[in-house]
Amino acid sequence: MNVASGSGVKVLFIEDNPIHVGLVKTLLGESRAPIFQLQHAGSLQDGLKLLEAVPVDIILLDLTLPDSEDLDTFIRVRSFAPAIPIVIVTSLDDVKLAAKAVEAGAQDYLVKTQLSRTSLTRSLRYAIERTRVRDAEWDSPMFRLAQRQFLKAAQYMGLDDNIRQRLLFPQRTLVVTLPFRRDHYTEVETVFGYRVQHILTMGPTKGGIRYHQDVSLGEVSALAMWMSWKCALVHLPFGGAKGGVRIDPTGLTGHELQRLTRRFATEISPIIGPEKDIPAPDMGTNERVMAWIMDTYSQQVGYSVPAVVTGKPVVLGGARGRNEATGRGVVYLIEEAARHLKMNLSESTAVIQGFGNVGSHAALFLSDLGVKIIGVSDATTGIYNRNGLSMSSLLEYVGQNRFLEGYSEGDEITNQELLELECDILVPAALQNQITAENADRIKCRLLAEGANGPTTLEADEVLNEKGVFILPDILANAGGVTVSYFEWVQDTQNYMWSLDEVNQRLKRILQDAFQRTLNRAEKNNVDMRTAALMEGIERVAQAKLARGLFP
Ligand code: NAD
Repeated sequence: MNVASGSGVKVLFIEDNPIHVGLVKTLLGESRAPIFQLQHAGSLQDGLKLLEAVPVDIILLDLTLPDSEDLDTFIRVRSFAPAIPIVIVTSLDDVKLAAKAVEAGAQDYLVKTQLSRTSLTRSLRYAIERTRVRDAEWDSPMFRLAQRQFLKAAQYMGLDDNIRQRLLFPQRTLVVTLPFRRDHYTEVETVFGYRVQHILTMGPTKGGIRYHQDVSLGEVSALAMWMSWKCALVHLPFGGAKGGVRIDPTGLTGHELQRLTRRFATEISPIIGPEKDIPAPDMGTNERVMAWIMDTYSQQVGYSVPAVVTGKPVVLGGARGRNEATGRGVVYLIEEAARHLKMNLSESTAVIQGFGNVGSHAALFLSDLGVKIIGVSDATTGIYNRNGLSMSSLLEYVGQNRFLEGYSEGDEITNQELLELECDILVPAALQNQITAENADRIKCRLLAEGANGPTTLEADEVLNEKGVFILPDILANAGGVTVSYFEWVQDTQNYMWSLDEVNQRLKRILQDAFQRTLNRAEKNNVDMRTAALMEGIERVAQAKLARGLFP
């Protein structure tokens, strides 16, 4: 992109109406920094020919052309030149089409009757800026999914362009490399770690720490963004954050895990703290890891600071019920959805992917309600039993053997087969990117409750929505964890502990309220549950940003 070189931004405008070409030419002609150089094509075919012949930085695209119409125009240009950003300029003032366009990858959707010099030049500048950071280290399929989900909701909301650009990227990121000693004293390992704070507007930031071999800045940034919407959706006074270390924790001994954790806690200690940013467990970490982070931070400041992390053991100020809160929350929400769908849970079947903290608790609480659990899986295998699996036996087995592999009271199946089992309720509670365009049409559940973060791609969403699958989106379905983390932080800062009953009752009330607000918004705005939940969250953050004003 040659904006920086000062030679001007090369804009290709594909538009058949000479009056609109003249208008855009005038509006862009008034800009001095950057200078826009406009080229014009009157049809899709001419546009594609020019794209081959001359360098183009950005495309302005009318959707209704003599040789192409609607979103098809966008899709054809995009597949011809996938690396060049496209801003749609159209007479079609249609919010659903606009949402679909940004979901499909358009940088913006401008309506001709509302065009001004500011809106047009700003849209082009922001689109170019986004494309320039496409190769930044935070870029990843997961971050792009989070951004596209956000842009779709923002389009429905008519969100201010400046706020949109601001919320699309993390506010603060810390990348560290850290060494830790293996048990064999002479061996030292150096790994990458991250902490991302997406929004600092709402109060301290909050989000888990993940240990996994695929952790990257892009993954952590996406998870931090989702944390912002999740906290705002359930009305917690936090912005979103997330952290992680790129390592497979299953290959570490307890001592190695402790040394790694203490060094990572030290590296991120300048930006965490009870009033700044409060970590919690996520994949590959647990209450033991949180205890080490709390201890390391406390050693550094010279006194005990329980409120620096949540999800720690109860003896250190952990909230009762935090360990099982995410799985419990998933089940509270399934109960709400079942009521709405008039599903009788005691006659329903469920399949759970992932048998860690979230998956095993969700399975346990569902089976307590009389739901028959017919399939479970983890990283090693899947187990299927159409007559129902015994939770006590499964939990005992995993307690002794760590993984499901070798469990004999069912048939062994793959994770892919597990997701495609016929069932009433499917709970993905392992990794992101599990339900995709490839397998979405073979998913046979009636209710999808996303325990994991980002398990479903946007393309899969569309297929599931068409099939009539009711989706409890991740930022709602798994919000129980951060809600009880909030309770823990409140209890720690007040030095006053609540009973388990108190925790669960408050959790239930908060989740029921969030479910109802999401459902109402979905019905009122005629959007799917995911977009409705995102709109609820984003709206609150946007309001807070506007209320605080601009510094300086
Ligand atoms: P965990 O580490 O306790 O469990 C993860 C489970 O997934 C394990 O059983 C593991 O074997 C399994 N797994 C890993 N790779 C797999 C694969 N390829 N196929 C099938 N299973 C696989 O983690 P967790 O805390 O239960 O988190 C699970 C998901 O829930 C993550 O997406 C996390 O971000 C999300 N989440 C967790 C919390 C929380 O409080 N722990 C809160 C909100 C969201």
